[in-house]
Amino acid sequence: MPYRFLIVGAGFSGSVLARELVSRMDCYVEIWEERNHLAGNCFTSEDEETGIMVHRYGPHIFNTDKKEIWDYFNRYSPLRPYVHHVKAFHNNRLYPLPINLNTLNQFFGKEMNSREAALFLEDLGDHSITQPENFEEQALKLIGKELYEAFFYGYTKKQWGCEPRELPASIMKRLPIRFDTNDNYHLHPYTGIPEKGYTDFVKNLIDHPRIQVILNRKFVSLEETNSGFHHIFYTGPMDAYFNYAEGRLSYRTLRFEKEIRTGDFQGCTQVNYTDEMVPFTRITEHKHFTPWKKFEQTIIFREYSSEAMDGDVLYYPKRLKADKEKLEKYTQLTEKLSNVSFLGRLGTYRYLDMQHVIQEAIEMAESLVNSFTRNNETSSFHAHLKN
Ligand code: UDP
Repeated sequence: MPYRFLIVGAGFSGSVLARELVSRMDCYVEIWEERNHLAGNCFTSEDEETGIMVHRYGPHIFNTDKKEIWDYFNRYSPLRPYVHHVKAFHNNRLYPLPINLNTLNQFFGKEMNSREAALFLEDLGDHSITQPENFEEQALKLIGKELYEAFFYGYTKKQWGCEPRELPASIMKRLPIRFDTNDNYHLHPYTGIPEKGYTDFVKNLIDHPRIQVILNRKFVSLEETNSGFHHIFYTGPMDAYFNYAEGRLSYRTLRFEKEIRTGDFQGCTQVNYTDEMVPFTRITEHKHFTPWKKFEQTIIFREYSSEAMDGDVLYYPKRLKADKEKLEKYTQLTEKLSNVSFLGRLGTYRYLDMQHVIQEAIEMAESLVNSFTRNNETSSFHAHLKN
């Protein structure tokens, strides 16, 4: 008899895993999705009035350093090469991001070459910090006080709702500092936007006779589910699975204010408003995601960040000290379960890029299939959470 698996959540993790499981073994997969659409926070759909493809939960740019992940995506939905251009609006002026030679020359009113700029920045950095332990220390060590305050302090405080020194240094490390004029926001060699949107990728992944997706179906508890699944893969919030027994893990949620105009609003996809007194973090103009299409009108979204409350859509896992302590306890609880595995951004409480989500879902399918082949049973399979 073929095995039956339940996957909770039809985002990237759940849909890649579903496809990999049915491709690798004789099994049926049911996916329960509590929202009324596929693709989780990567959900895209065309705006009815303008026809512009909108990233409904904020901008997502597919970028990866791995050709096999780029090819994997393309197998299900075509990606078009795309370069993400972001500007910072500070003190009524626009600067190119990530910080590069042009940003440095413009900000300091200089005409340095690459070598001079590298030496200049070296001088600005705070060398008393040897082992940066948080976002602020990482920034001060790398770029010094003036640049930190102009481009990072206010934005980060608005985005995360806390002092940057409470945040891990890893968040700051997401952004490169460059001494050439390259203003491609991403470092990775493969960067693109799906021609038909992210929802198309997920729709094609789950288009298989042995995958069934049920929308508007919420997973409540294992006891309530009780329908003979051999294994459950849970991509929802880890704390919700345990009914918040160890307290809530903190997240940021986002609110988008939409406006339709004619023409071009800001000339590029994203402008970050880095000053603390501007209440929103950034404005995204979605037609620039698809430069191969022309539109008379334009849609912009002002993005506001706040602390996620009960019932809000969860975006960024904060991973503050108190969260990490709770995470440790939840992780111990997950280790006691033999037939449930956790994956994805919410299931493992990590700030993950799409490429890592895809990769980890493929790896989880591989582990399950290997374990099944070795032991001839799936209940012994247990995927360890990554930190
Ligand atoms: N960041 C900042 N100023 C900027 C852009 C980013 O301070 O203009 C900080 C902020 O804390 C943000 C982090 O760098 O959360 C990572 O930025 P990224 O663009 O990767 O954030 P995402 O697009 O995932 O929201």
